[in-house]
Order: sequence, then C-alpha cells, then structure tokens
Amino acid sequence: MSNIYKKIYKEIKKYPNIVIARHIGPDPDALGSQFALKELIKNKFPKKNVYAIGATSSRFKFMGILDKIEEINKENTLLIVLDTPNIKRIDSVDLEQYSHIIKIDHHPLVDKISTIELIDETASSTGQLILEFIYVNHLTLTDSIAKNIYMAIISDTGRFMHDYTTNRTFELITKMLKKTNIDFTSLYEPLYMRPLSEIRFQGYIFENMEVTESGVAYIKITEDLLKKFGVDSASSGNIISELKFVNEILVWIFLTEDKKNNIIRANIRSRGPVINEIATSYGGGGHKYASGARLNNWQQADSLIVDLDELTEEYTKGHVK
Ligand code: AMP
Repeated sequence: MSNIYKKIYKEIKKYPNIVIARHIGPDPDALGSQFALKELIKNKFPKKNVYAIGATSSRFKFMGILDKIEEINKENTLLIVLDTPNIKRIDSVDLEQYSHIIKIDHHPLVDKISTIELIDETASSTGQLILEFIYVNHLTLTDSIAKNIYMAIISDTGRFMHDYTTNRTFELITKMLKKTNIDFTSLYEPLYMRPLSEIRFQGYIFENMEVTESGVAYIKITEDLLKKFGVDSASSGNIISELKFVNEILVWIFLTEDKKNNIIRANIRSRGPVINEIATSYGGGGHKYASGARLNNWQQADSLIVDLDELTEEYTKGHVK
C-alpha cells in the first residue's frame, strides 16, 4: 500500500500546477483534507501553484479559504480529487480539462477517473489517508495541517464512533498529536456550534418523524418548513447522526426539498441493514451505513421509504431486534 502513497508524491513533484478538488456539499473531511494537502504541497514546493477549489461552505469557512482558477494548462496541471467516488459529485471540475488526474478516497469505488487511484475503504476518512501520505513520504506536519486533519477525522468518524474507526486511526492521530501538541479540544466549538433555530428544527423532526413497524424512521421536510424554522436544506444533514442510538430505529431517512435544484435530498443512515445498494439504485450512493441520494420527486421518495422498509424487515427477520 505504501507504494501508491509514494507514487502520488512522485506525481505531485512533476507538475507546477496542482488543483485539489472534492465533493459538492463539502463536509469537514473533504475540506480539511483539501486544505491540509494544499499546505503540505506548498510547504514542500513553494514555487508550485496549488489551488483548493469548490463552492464555499459558509458553515465551515473557518477551516480555510478556497481558490479560483482562471485558466487550466492541461499539460502542466495535476488534478487531485479527494473524498469523491462519483464523477457527478466532483465540485467545480470538468474532467475533460485535465489529462493528469489522481484520486484519493475512502468511499467504495464508483467511477474510475484515473490510473492512479488510492481507494481505501477501510480508512475512517480521507483525512486519515492524508495523514498516511504524510508519514509515508516524511512530510512536515504543521499545526494548521494537523488541525485540519483532526477536524476531518473526528467529523467523518463522529468523534471516533462510526465504523472504520480502527486502531490505525488512533495510532495515526496519537502520532500526530504527540508531534504537534495542538489544542484539539478547542476545535470542537467551531465545528459543532449551531444556531438555536437548528435545534428547534431538530426538535420538530424528532417530534414529527414517522417510525414504521420494522424500524424505519423518516420525515419529509418541505422548503416551507425550512423557511418556518429559518434553516437551510443543509441543516437536515447536521441533525441526522443524532438518531444513531434509538431502540426502535434501525434505518432513518430525512427527505428534504431543494426547490432551487428541483430535487429532494435524501440523507439515509443505518445501524444494521446495508443501505448503499438501495441508495445507488436511486442514483445516489455512499457507505454501507451512511448514504444519500438526490431524488426527482416525492413519489420517488415514497418508493425509497418502501424499499428501505422492506430491507429492514428482511434484516430484522435474521436478527433479534
Ligand atoms: P450525507 O447524507 O449527504 O451526509 O451523505 C452520506 C454519504 O452518502 C456520503 O458518504 C456521501 O458521499 C454519500 N452521498 C450523499 N449523497 C449522494 C449522492 N447524491 N450520490 C452519491 N453518494 C451520495
């Protein structure tokens, strides 16, 4: 495995321009990995032009500032795509404009975009892979790189709770903290601060979601409802993890209307049945127990609920609840 990390480093060395991209709707793993990698490259090769691109996230803007690229020179530019298995979810990139591409990801493979792809599904996060990359290639870890990586990892693991949090995750984090001595507890406040409006919205969801016999919780969130609570469609994604430990719930789905993009956004989580195949069959995807999809209408949303309910019923038959 260490060969691929070395190979990626060799590729980075070759090009004067490096563009680092990640998925739409960025989370701290995508952003933290992007900013950490940018700083690593800039520190090692100050003359290179390195761009971390994609739409700005107002919630996580404290993690770093994103760049704009005016023009792409195909021959002299390397594109590194982080944390994104599907081509359609890469933010602000037209792959046609690049001939040299690398991917680094911890999601199951969906679209192959390059001959150099570091895909490790056993890694907790892309942040963890960046940390492996640092150690394999003996790169210098600064405090700001360590902070971004720490935020990436704690966010994708739900503070070391979700699957794929392994001994390796702790080994790497411990090594990083010993080296940098960053004040990691100070990072939780900016990462987890939320407006009261979102807490009230969370209360509404918990009060009003339906729970089926088999253990599927779901709620349909219209744009009018979002307006009423003064929150945006990203808020659902911030609340979804809160239902992880509820006796009566095995699978839970938030369906949020996004009129601007003319879609219904589905956030799906599970603590038993493997859900990503169903998410994929609706044009979405994700991990075994954390998936998402963009649906075209409420009929599709209803059909997704039925499919997940049947899956959960089947699952329950084979397990004691
Ligand atoms: P979310 O519910 O948006 O936090 O997403 C959970 C997981 O599902 C993430 O790993 C995403 O990569 C994946 N995912 C979310 N939406 C989609 C989509 N429309 N297509 C493919 N994968 C998705």
